[in-house]
Amino acid sequence: MPTTITFCGGAGSVTGANFLLKTDRAAILVDCGLQQGGELTEGINWKPFPYDPSIIDVLFVTHSHIDHIGRIPKLVRDGFRGRIISTEATRAVAGALLEDSAMLLEIVAKRTEHPILYDAHDIEAAMKLWEGVPYHTPQSLPDGLSFEFIDAGHILGSAMVKISRGGRTIVFTGDLGGSSVLLPPRDSAVGAQYVVMESVYGDRTHPYEDPNTRRDNLRRAIVETAHRGGVLLIPAFATERTQDLLFELRTIYADGGIPEVPVYLDAPLAEKLTASFLAHPQYFNDEMHARITMGENIFSFPQLHVVADTEASHALDQVRGPKVIIAGSGMAQGGRVLQHEKTVLQDPHSTLLIVGYQVAGSLGRRLIDGAKQVTIMGEKIPVHCRVEQNLGYSAHLDGPHLLEFIEEAKETVEEVFVVMGEPVSAGFLVQRMRDHLGINARAPENGNSFPIEL
Ligand SMILES: [Zn+2]
Repeated sequence: MPTTITFCGGAGSVTGANFLLKTDRAAILVDCGLQQGGELTEGINWKPFPYDPSIIDVLFVTHSHIDHIGRIPKLVRDGFRGRIISTEATRAVAGALLEDSAMLLEIVAKRTEHPILYDAHDIEAAMKLWEGVPYHTPQSLPDGLSFEFIDAGHILGSAMVKISRGGRTIVFTGDLGGSSVLLPPRDSAVGAQYVVMESVYGDRTHPYEDPNTRRDNLRRAIVETAHRGGVLLIPAFATERTQDLLFELRTIYADGGIPEVPVYLDAPLAEKLTASFLAHPQYFNDEMHARITMGENIFSFPQLHVVADTEASHALDQVRGPKVIIAGSGMAQGGRVLQHEKTVLQDPHSTLLIVGYQVAGSLGRRLIDGAKQVTIMGEKIPVHCRVEQNLGYSAHLDGPHLLEFIEEAKETVEEVFVVMGEPVSAGFLVQRMRDHLGINARAPENGNSFPIEL
């Protein structure tokens, strides 16, 4: 039997990553993520896995975003008993993120009349199977395979998985980044024959990728908010994005020359994960590593206030005067940000600043697309505030950089499978690779299976 790669989730869509590599005597999964979108995409997450979870030997986890880990407890509930392997930084935050996801899923399950997808017991069982291993440390797997994690530059601890046998290698990129001021530069897929790669922004170019430009944009948003007396509301993912923003704000305020608008961090999960970030200084770049180990809290500054509970969170909307609020969740699919949006969206003096990817069907996406009215928790809310986007803080590579990533490995790459992007992005990137690099690339669909020589 030839080795095969099967796309079980995350092909033709950004979220729900789930890839199966099967040899004669080994079954290996890469990522097991939640599909995100309107009402969590109408029951798709509740469907059975298209393989028997009990036959899987190893599940690799590229990083801790919920669209890469959100169905792991279901996999365990459905019979998986193998090893779960990620970097230590990923493992350290996964439990808290899964607990948060279970809460959101429970609400959706009730509303859409589905059974509970998983509970605390399943999360605990998953964490017992989970090991953290460092980057750049090859280890063996069943059936003569070996693996190594290399740095994906996307969020703290994010990894690409290199799986090899007999001198041939397949690389699963997970999500790829490269513009964070906190992280080391990403590694490359040089030497691989196959690459399964993301394409979230395959058809886009990030306008403000330069750290100074994006920082200037953030600074301008704060100054304008202060002058108008409004609120600058930034929905942010709990992992990496919130910490990136806190670091940027610390730098902006330290540079001075702007009104000292108070900043409220209203995201209990993000606060918890920030502590976990600081506990893993070895995953930062050299400069940040040194600053953290010298005792500097790179995520704190005098103007920062941490919002303690929901009561304090509600009170925040009653207090007048300019302020910055960072709140979860990043795509406004739940969390405290929804309550703030009800107030902020109606206020012409305020600004909603979008700094991350917004999946099709999410509230954030509708706002970027210019919705004049949205429904939040059953209430119709007119949109009068400014809606701005600053994708300079994107944790993803844009189209030209994704192409560059493949160009680096051009000498050895025989085939590229482009996934984790909407069909237009994935298709655009495939065409680019064929036309500009002469590389055999394709955008598979979920359910597709291909033989590979490994
Ligand atoms: Zn991600």
